[in-house]
Amino acid sequence: MFTDKQILRIPGPTPIPPRVQQAMNQPMMGHRSGKFSALFAKTAERLKPYFGTQQDVYIITGSGTSALEMGVVNTLAPGDEAAILVSGNFGERFAKICERYGVIAHRLEVPWGEAVTPELLDAFLKEKPQVKAVFATYCETSTGVQNPIAELAEVIRKQSDALFIVDAVSCLGAVPCEMDAWGVDIVVTGSQKAFMLPTGLAFLAASERAWSVIEQNKSLAFYLDLKAYRKSLKDQTTPYTPAVSLIFGLAEVLDILEEEGLPAIVKRHELMRDMTRAAMRALNIKLMAEDAYAATTVTSCDPQGAFDAEAMRKALTKHYNISIAGGQQHLKGKIFRIGHMGYCEPLDVLQVIAAIEMSLHQIGAPVELGAGVKAAQEVLIAHV
Ligand SMILES: *Cc1c(COP(=O)(O)O)cnc(C)c1O
Repeated sequence: MFTDKQILRIPGPTPIPPRVQQAMNQPMMGHRSGKFSALFAKTAERLKPYFGTQQDVYIITGSGTSALEMGVVNTLAPGDEAAILVSGNFGERFAKICERYGVIAHRLEVPWGEAVTPELLDAFLKEKPQVKAVFATYCETSTGVQNPIAELAEVIRKQSDALFIVDAVSCLGAVPCEMDAWGVDIVVTGSQKAFMLPTGLAFLAASERAWSVIEQNKSLAFYLDLKAYRKSLKDQTTPYTPAVSLIFGLAEVLDILEEEGLPAIVKRHELMRDMTRAAMRALNIKLMAEDAYAATTVTSCDPQGAFDAEAMRKALTKHYNISIAGGQQHLKGKIFRIGHMGYCEPLDVLQVIAAIEMSLHQIGAPVELGAGVKAAQEVLIAHV
C-alpha cells in the first residue's frame, strides 16, 4: 500500500488537487507588498459568484467556526434574541456560540436526518417576532441534510426584519447559492470542504442590511471584528497577517473551479450524491436524509444495527487506506458518512462503494459483492 495514497472520503478536510498543492509551495511573499495586495483583492473578488453576491467577500485566517462566530458577534449583542434552526451538530454550534455571547437562543429543532421546512419556520417566527437574527445550516454535515435555504429566506423576508445568517461551510463551491437574490444576509464558509484547500481560511459575505446592523453593533470582537476587515479590504489587505500560502492555493482553486464552471460542478456533485444513494439502497443500508433534502456533498448512512459501522470503517482504513466519517454526538458509533465533495469525481465514488462492500464482507456482514457498485454504475452510465 502506498502510504501517501491516503484516500479521504470524509466531509472535510478533503483531498487537495496537486496543482493547488504546488501553488501553495511558492516562495513566501511580504503580505503588505503591492504584489500580494493585488493577488488578494483579485482572489476575494473571484469568490463572489460562489456566494451569489455583489457584496465583498472577506477572507479570514481561521477555521470555519471563526466565521460562524463572526456572524454572531458582529450582528448581535448580549440580551438580543435569535432563532437557531437546529437540524444537527452544526446548527447546535450556532446556538452555543450565541449563548456564549449572552444572546438568547431559541432553538427550532428537528430530529437528526430531517430538514427544517419553510412551514416549521413560518410557525416558529410567528411565535417569536422579537428575534433579531435567524441562523441556519445549508448542508448539515452531521446528517447529510441540505436545508432549503432559498425557501427559508423567503419565509423570513415575508414576516420579519431579522437577519438571515447561513453556515454553508460544507457545501459552498459545490451547490447553488444566490445570496443576494434569495435575501440571505450573511453566508459563511471554510476552505477545507468543497474549496479543496487545507483548513485555515474562512470566507464571509454580508448584505447591505447586515452591514447597517454591523455598523451599529458594539461588537465585543477584536480579531473577528468585521468592520476591521471591511476597512482593510478597501486597501486590498487584511487587518492581521493573512495565510499567504493558502491564498496562493485559493487562487489556483478558483482557476480550477472556473475551468469546470459552477453549473457543471453542481451537476457533478448531484451525480455523486445519486450514485452513493443508489448504492446504499442496493445494499439495503438506510439513508438518513430523504431524497428531497439529501446533501450533494455528504451522504449519511444508518445500518440500524445490521452491522457494526465502526468495524466497517476500521476495515476500510486498514485494508484500503480509505477514510470515511462516523457519527457525531448521539450517533457516534452508529452511522457512517461518506464525503463526496471537492476534488472528487464519479469514479472515486465507485471506488469507495467497492471498498465498503469488501469491508462489509471482511467483517462478516451479509453483503452481495458488487450490488452497490452496479447500482452506482447504472446511475453514472445514464448521465454520460
Ligand atoms: C466543517 C463545518 C464547520 C466548521 O468547522 P471547522 O472545524 O471550524 O472548520 C461548520 N459548519 C459545518 C456545517 C461544517 O461542516
